[in-house]
Amino acid sequence: MVSTSSAVNWPPIDGIISDLDGVVYRGSTAIADAIEAFARWRKAGVPFCFVTNNSTHTPEDVVRKLTGFGLAIAPSQVVTSAITAAELIRTNYPELTKVYVIGAPSLVTAMREVGLEVTDRSPEVVVMGLDRDITHEKMRIAVEAILNGAVFIGTNPDLLLPTANGFEPGAGATIAAVAAATQVQPSIVGKPHVPMIETALSRLGTNRASTIMIGDQVPTDIQAGKKAGLATVLVTTGVPMRQDPSQMAPDFIVSSLRDIEVSAARAARPQQRRA
Ligand SMILES: [Mg+2]
Repeated sequence: MVSTSSAVNWPPIDGIISDLDGVVYRGSTAIADAIEAFARWRKAGVPFCFVTNNSTHTPEDVVRKLTGFGLAIAPSQVVTSAITAAELIRTNYPELTKVYVIGAPSLVTAMREVGLEVTDRSPEVVVMGLDRDITHEKMRIAVEAILNGAVFIGTNPDLLLPTANGFEPGAGATIAAVAAATQVQPSIVGKPHVPMIETALSRLGTNRASTIMIGDQVPTDIQAGKKAGLATVLVTTGVPMRQDPSQMAPDFIVSSLRDIEVSAARAARPQQRRA
């Protein structure tokens, strides 16, 4: 059921997971209401964590950007698809150590930071993200490794990315090429899949029943939040909303993050739960 921002009965909100692009900023421009809202929530003691399908930026890159907008956060408050892929390998395949990476330097960094060896020699895992220097040779190495039994992980399924002048292929397009060649489907960690949301939830340490997911896109943010069992809030500051009856609808729709009543919800609950 969709509620609009007027006369909304907001549920108790103990934690917030939020998308970045289209919610907190658009490109290099801050969305003022959003910066103010997060600053207010921090003051109220509500923990929040940002999630982004973009594997080409490190959490530190995001921290620098938000600090520039006047919102100081810690790197641990940013979960990228690169960070999620690294943590997923560590959790689900603790015995595997050798990873072949097609992606940006930030994806390589994320793997190394969890102790994985990044190599093209007999890799046990192939991780693919957006690589603007992708070559046929890189794809050959990935294909061969996967055919030899390597685990296949993709950062995010985005097929098409908007640019200043038009579009470029996203990580999902090249991941799809390797999947087609090998006939092996990758595990995708980014939205609309749930692993990134689960990583953010564990960082927050909040109960999923009182944690909300904020995003500007129904096909990615809202689906990921719903699949993870969170109440979802669509903010209409990003891409225009497309009606698609095959997709789960957001629980709430707001035109500004100002409309989300977090402190009121918490004030009504004298006993604050800590996970
Ligand atoms: Mg977005």
